[in-house]
Amino acid sequence: MTDFNSFKLLPSILDIIEAKGYKHPTLVQERTIPVLLKGHDVLGIAQTGTGKTASFSLPLLDRLVKKKKQLKPNEIRALIIAPTRELATQIHKSVLSYSEGLDISSAVIIGGVRKSNQIELMTSGIDIVVATPGRFMDLMGGGHILFDQLEVFVLDEADMMLDMGFYDDVKTIASKLPVKKQTVMFSATMPKQIELLAKSILVRPIKIAATQQSSTLDKVSQSVYTVLEENKLPLLLNLLSNDSVERVLVFCKAKYAVADIVEALIKNNISNGEIHSNRTQNERNQAIKDFTEGNVRVLVATDLASRGLHIDNVTHVINYNMPDDATFYVHRIGRTARAGREGTAISFCSERDLGPLRKVQKLIQLVIPKITKHPFHHEYAPLKKGHHRPSSASLRQRKTMSQTKISAKKKFLEHL
Ligand code: AMP
Repeated sequence: MTDFNSFKLLPSILDIIEAKGYKHPTLVQERTIPVLLKGHDVLGIAQTGTGKTASFSLPLLDRLVKKKKQLKPNEIRALIIAPTRELATQIHKSVLSYSEGLDISSAVIIGGVRKSNQIELMTSGIDIVVATPGRFMDLMGGGHILFDQLEVFVLDEADMMLDMGFYDDVKTIASKLPVKKQTVMFSATMPKQIELLAKSILVRPIKIAATQQSSTLDKVSQSVYTVLEENKLPLLLNLLSNDSVERVLVFCKAKYAVADIVEALIKNNISNGEIHSNRTQNERNQAIKDFTEGNVRVLVATDLASRGLHIDNVTHVINYNMPDDATFYVHRIGRTARAGREGTAISFCSERDLGPLRKVQKLIQLVIPKITKHPFHHEYAPLKKGHHRPSSASLRQRKTMSQTKISAKKKFLEHL
């Protein structure tokens, strides 16, 4: 098994890794770190939870520390772009922990917080900036970011960037960067448009695939509860009456459902938090903090949060409804069984969830076992092959998709 010492990382960085208790590199680290240390561009297929943040952060820190530069105001040396505020914040947290004690400055530039503070911060010149595209474009447009010293560009979760309609923003940002630099792009999947983007921004990249998806899924015990839509809330409360359902992430497709669930939890004195696009960034951060620190038992979230949440001991993920996009299911249940632990994923399926359930089972190549011994069990007639009962959300989405694709998808994402 590879050892971190076999990489030619600086001793100060190896010390940090040791202090963090990492014994061996993960697969993506084993494959990516040596390649980045040699200066190549990388195109990586890996999801969150595989250790990919360290795989690009450690070589980046190594490079910046080895050749320390005095930055002028507004100059940056590395830019990491991520699609959501949560992801950018999580990446920045990791960067901070991997650079503890090193003479490296870093900052996170995201929307939902005061721009003036970020503008002020940039005046000192920052080694590593982690940002979401919108706010970064804003600061860039105002001349608050200078790229003369930029050496490394990392684009994380590129496929999600596309899903969220940031494709053009990413291309604009990439076009402003110096030609001579190292570029790293990570994506969980590789749709055609992402391949094209990769071609346009990477130079002779080394391709690395390290999804480890199946092993993560293997550690999650998955089950389906078929239930009438109106009985989902009572079923949720019934499950939560069991104390072993300890630290629970409940996923919903749309934010209006989150409000109903939160109301029921409050009525039943079950501590909870919520994250979706109607919450301010501070509220979202606070909800995640409360949940991480164990102050609240249930966190209700839309798919906005299904990627990038670093909470290591979620015992249960409950899919209050099935996502229309089957890949979201994988991201959702990947929030449990992290850091080598076991986890449980329970999916509530009413009639409108049966079509999406079928798509999920096709994707993960598994018939998820059905639990029938519960007070709200409802048996549905099996779907005939090729027949789908589309959910109202997917009908809504399908209608808008026939207009212009990207704006429709953006609209759909506003439900999150
Ligand atoms: P990431 O995929 O970057 O989101 O990382 C997922 C989790 O794995 C984080 O909690 C990291 O702290 C942890 N991690 C990253 N690399 C290692 C490693 N080599 N050994 C143990 N844990 C790790």
